[in-house]
Amino acid sequence: MLASLRACVADFRQGPREPWPQVAFAGRSNVGKSSLLNALFGQKLAQVSKTPGKTRTLNYYLVNNRCFFVDLPGYGFAAVAKSERESWGRNVTDYIVHEERLKLVVALVDPRVPTSPLDQALLALCREAARPVLVVLTKADALSRGALAAERLRVQRDLQLEDLPLVFSAKSGEGKRELLKAIAERLPT
Ligand code: GDP
Repeated sequence: MLASLRACVADFRQGPREPWPQVAFAGRSNVGKSSLLNALFGQKLAQVSKTPGKTRTLNYYLVNNRCFFVDLPGYGFAAVAKSERESWGRNVTDYIVHEERLKLVVALVDPRVPTSPLDQALLALCREAARPVLVVLTKADALSRGALAAERLRVQRDLQLEDLPLVFSAKSGEGKRELLKAIAERLPT
């Protein structure tokens, strides 16, 4: 995959001007979003941070000269100041509701932690804005097969998904091909 970082902005209106479709990646801080993106890119473009909750901007990666992957700031990190949490909400909500080129939201969920009201809120927002969502469980390698199967069912039920969530591991590469295929299927040709 050909990928390069094109822009980091707080307000999506300052983002790239090209008409290409956009795929956004969202999830709680520490869910494994940077690791997943780097695994998809095949290179370390996204910063894997030791300090959860550090990325505050929408980071746009141009992919194969035909779409943008947009890394949204992670949510739910309690140590971040309230004013910052509020501006996270404003900027991301604004983007999800108003960005016409946004064709898919990839919502990342850690299968080892209980479903968060913040995950529920993200899905509710996407449904309200009529944005298609793909839910992906990260860190699949960290659970046994049986436990992972059970968590897939739990997350499907908790988030009221039509389909089972996909599973992904940045460590083993499991689920990479399926995720790229699922994204490609949801982009306009
Ligand atoms: P982000 O805050 O969502 O961008 O998460 P990071 O990609 O920085 O990862 C957060 C932590 O989870 C790091 O300690 C990673 O090493 C770990 N992690 C990320 N992906 C995986 C994975 O596929 N398997 C395992 N076992 N750990 C992972």
